Amino acid sequence: MAEPIKHITIVGGGTAGWFTANMLSVFFGMQKNHPGNRMRITLIESPNIPTVGVGEATVPSMSRSLQQTGISETDFFKTCNASFKLGVDFANWNVDAKGKPFSYINPFNTGHRVSGIDPGYYYGRFGGSGASFVQTISPAQDLGMMRKGPRPLGSKPYSEPVNYAYHLDAGLFAKMLQGISVGRGVEHILDDMVDVERGEDGSIAAINLKETGRHEVELVIDCTGFKGLIINGALDEHFISYDKYLANDRAMAVQIPHPEQTENGPKFIEPVTRSTALGAGWSWRVPLFNRIGTGYVYSSAHRSDDEARDEFLDLLGDAGKGAEPRVIPMRVGRTRNSWVKNCIAIGLSGGFIEPLESTAIYMIEMAVRWLIAYFPDQSYPDSLRKRYNDVASGLYDEVRDFICLHYALGNRTDSQYWIDAREELEVPDSLAENLEVWKHAMPVMTDLKSQHLFSPEVYTAVLQGKRIYQMRDDWNAGLSLNLNREMWRKHVSGQRHKISQFVNAMPDHVALLRELRGETQKPTDNALAGTLAGSTQQAGTVPLPGLGIRKTPTIKTPVAPLDAADGNLL
Ligand code: FAD
Repeated sequence: MAEPIKHITIVGGGTAGWFTANMLSVFFGMQKNHPGNRMRITLIESPNIPTVGVGEATVPSMSRSLQQTGISETDFFKTCNASFKLGVDFANWNVDAKGKPFSYINPFNTGHRVSGIDPGYYYGRFGGSGASFVQTISPAQDLGMMRKGPRPLGSKPYSEPVNYAYHLDAGLFAKMLQGISVGRGVEHILDDMVDVERGEDGSIAAINLKETGRHEVELVIDCTGFKGLIINGALDEHFISYDKYLANDRAMAVQIPHPEQTENGPKFIEPVTRSTALGAGWSWRVPLFNRIGTGYVYSSAHRSDDEARDEFLDLLGDAGKGAEPRVIPMRVGRTRNSWVKNCIAIGLSGGFIEPLESTAIYMIEMAVRWLIAYFPDQSYPDSLRKRYNDVASGLYDEVRDFICLHYALGNRTDSQYWIDAREELEVPDSLAENLEVWKHAMPVMTDLKSQHLFSPEVYTAVLQGKRIYQMRDDWNAGLSLNLNREMWRKHVSGQRHKISQFVNAMPDHVALLRELRGETQKPTDNALAGTLAGSTQQAGTVPLPGLGIRKTPTIKTPVAPLDAADGNLL
């Protein structure tokens, strides 16, 4: 029997490094200075090289990770100035028949089948009596428009009557994870890695640090960011660029204040991330409690930095006066194998796809969960490494396909960028095949090779949002629907009634956040909180891994892709 690994060294102290340290310290049950600790974890972080400093929107899996690593919801909201996110609002990505841009939301809650059939078929054939497709299946759009929170005041911690994710301050989040990890006994070394020493078999034997010298290692986690200093540098693992599929290779970021303030904080906070298409890419807008994070993701082949800056500041108007956006070059693609020898690349060193669907932190989370699932001993079995690399690569390719979908189905002709995005960029074979199928039928499970994050229902929401099927009598005319036009109209009216009741019962987003931050009193008897939220979640913290938290959906989709796909890993 090979020796167990007793020491993990993480290099890099950005979100990836500290997220990994936090989850592993919980998994190995570490307690500070405890003689029974079976694992030692060291995190080495340069005091001179800054973190990327962006990455402020998440997907719904985050609340599970916070709970499983024992983080209190109040601490999280307060420390990270967090807010709720119910989906992504896409503005100006597509235009209607008259060339007028329109918006759609990609929500975290998707639809149930209606009389055995995907509601997208009915919507495509009969429309929604004035409601968008999303408004017939989910409260996300209405909550977003009314700037309401996703659960009642007085709810139990982490309760989720509807799926939600968070917006958070990336810098404060990493700091919070650092404090918690160090509190559990993770050793923190502030020093620069200068180079590495390789053993006879090519593995990393030691890391040489500028001030503190040689640091012997067993398992190494490379969290050094876009440079991938160990995986791509020392181990020379090939980086597979996605540039033939995705044009955007630069971003600029800036923070702006909320447009209207009161003495209790911002007047309103939208519970959605906004993505507004511009001339050579798109702009994100992530509203936190105390400020808004915004930026422009663009293609350097279509805009110089100066041109992009002018265009972005124009979009911001008065809010951008005096702002000096920071330019961030992006390496888009994935390292061929994230795990090589005794090194695993997690975070930007493993790969990155533009942040259109806020997937990077989720990929970090999954990388750590898979590391735990396939944790090796000192013999580093090839089978474990291969399986890990297969699933990790599969997730990158899955996200790539979903992001490519947004460009492949764009129909703007007003700038060369949008024409190139549609006509010059390659569509990955897996997506191209599916797009051919989806000309004739709605997405189903069997269409997708990998669906860790994006289910068929989520694809449908984007196809419907882009109005691919709407009111096309010729579309799938052969399919006999179980409901006729009048029955569908009644169904939509019933759905709208239920959704509006739910939305009316929800509080203002700012009021909910103030309560979660401990700035206002929780109501003591909130009947609604009991009925809507009480049944959905286990509250509080989860001291030990091995107890996956399964969620009981209420008005969510019957197929909860995030939970179903990965909920049993810890
Ligand atoms: P970094 O933050 O770059 O950290 C690298 C670390 O390595 C630093 O601590 C640095 O000091 C250390 N280091 C480097 N060299 C050395 C050395 N020689 N010695 C010692 N230490 C060293 N993700 C989301 O989930 N949602 C989003 O909305 C989102 N938006 C994004 C927008 C943009 C424009 C970009 C570029 C990224 C976005 N991301 C988003 C991704 C997210 O920012 C990253 O996944 C996340 O921050 C993790 O980064 P990291 O820790 O891998 O790298």
